Amino acid sequence: MKNVIAGKTLEGWLNAYPLLENLIETEEVFWKNERKQSFDKGKKTLSISLKDINEAEDRFQRFAPYIREVFLETEDTKGIIESPLRAVPKMKKQLEGLYKKSLSGELLLKCDHELAAAGSIKARGGFHEVLKHAETLALKNGFITKNDNYRAFANLEFKELFKNHSIIVGSTGNLGLSIGIIGTALGFRVTVHMSADARQWKKDLLREKGAVVIEHADDYGLAVAEGRKEAEKDPSSYFVDDENSLDLFLGYAVAARRLKTQLDEKNIVINEDRPLFVYLPCGVGGGPGGVAFGLKLLFQDNVHCFFAEPTHSPSMLIGMMTKKHDKLSVQDFGIDNKTAADGLAVGRPSAFVGQMLAPFLSGIYTVSDNYLFLMLRHLADSEKIFLEPSALAGMPGPFKSLDDHGFPIDNAVYIVWATGGSMVPKSEMEDYYNRSLK
Ligand SMILES: *Cc1c(COP(=O)(O)O)cnc(C)c1O
Repeated sequence: MKNVIAGKTLEGWLNAYPLLENLIETEEVFWKNERKQSFDKGKKTLSISLKDINEAEDRFQRFAPYIREVFLETEDTKGIIESPLRAVPKMKKQLEGLYKKSLSGELLLKCDHELAAAGSIKARGGFHEVLKHAETLALKNGFITKNDNYRAFANLEFKELFKNHSIIVGSTGNLGLSIGIIGTALGFRVTVHMSADARQWKKDLLREKGAVVIEHADDYGLAVAEGRKEAEKDPSSYFVDDENSLDLFLGYAVAARRLKTQLDEKNIVINEDRPLFVYLPCGVGGGPGGVAFGLKLLFQDNVHCFFAEPTHSPSMLIGMMTKKHDKLSVQDFGIDNKTAADGLAVGRPSAFVGQMLAPFLSGIYTVSDNYLFLMLRHLADSEKIFLEPSALAGMPGPFKSLDDHGFPIDNAVYIVWATGGSMVPKSEMEDYYNRSLK
């Protein structure tokens, strides 16, 4: 550890933020965001609005005929990639037993692990950014107008156009997977810079799709930096910037509108007497940030959003708590950023997301890897739902926020965001399952 970290000694940091001591010890913690504001007050600083999210939704609608054509599993939903919202009463019972506490409201699972085509939350953010890039190129080259049927994107002439363009991204796995799947389907040349955390099957699958995978021995931050460097050298390339991208963020945020529709369909009305609590696994922040942001715009003060991070990668927590965002990494405090939750293995958070969510986020908590594997097994046993480790970080959330934090928990609706897992190979999932038995 350095003697001076971002202008302060370690002792200075610990004095200012005593919770850092627990974070450095990689203990599980809960941080309440005391700087959260009322929605009316918080929204004054916003530069984006519902209109921007609606534009992203419209773009998904325009591309639906293309998605339906290329990803056959979207036939039933006519090319719209969306996941179910499921009650998980058996898991709720399991958790209540484990915590020896009862949850007054319903526990729902937002099943993004089932998202078609990419099997994770990245099917919204990653797909949106690539589709927007493809649309921009097609419009600019006179291949299409916004009123045409976008099924045409499956035609050979579009592939001929896109093969002269490359897309570059840095990832711990799932973002690369989603960008690679949609990018190569459209005909782009795709290069994915993978961090050391990335699972082998994700790299294999990408190569099978025709993407170039460059493997790095270091963590996420380096993979992104290498991707950015490569993109700067090639003017025909397009860099998907996971740390700063508004288009990723808006793609993720579309989930909020659709969730509202799903709640309406279940006759669940969110209001002052029935608040909504949402728990989102957080890596660099774009996915959970986009969803939380969309939910705040729709439900305002009646929704409470929480991020969940691994005890070894609490980067967003440190960034938001200290207001230093991307100026600090977990490694600065001697935390190793090593976790089986590969999707969350991010040592330095997005400042764009941290700043945007500062007035809106209710809190962040951390979860140990052992706990993620325990949740994995419980969910598999009780509900027959199989998630990758990252996707389980939201699971204990309702119980973490119950304790004396002053949230209006009576008669609440709890949604745990399951962010990925349906594409994990069977043998790998068996290994995950068995790890919790050791
Ligand atoms: C990417 C990812 C997240 C977190 O999203 P960020 O944008 O990195 O914060 C959570 N869970 C899974 C499974 C992911 O792939």
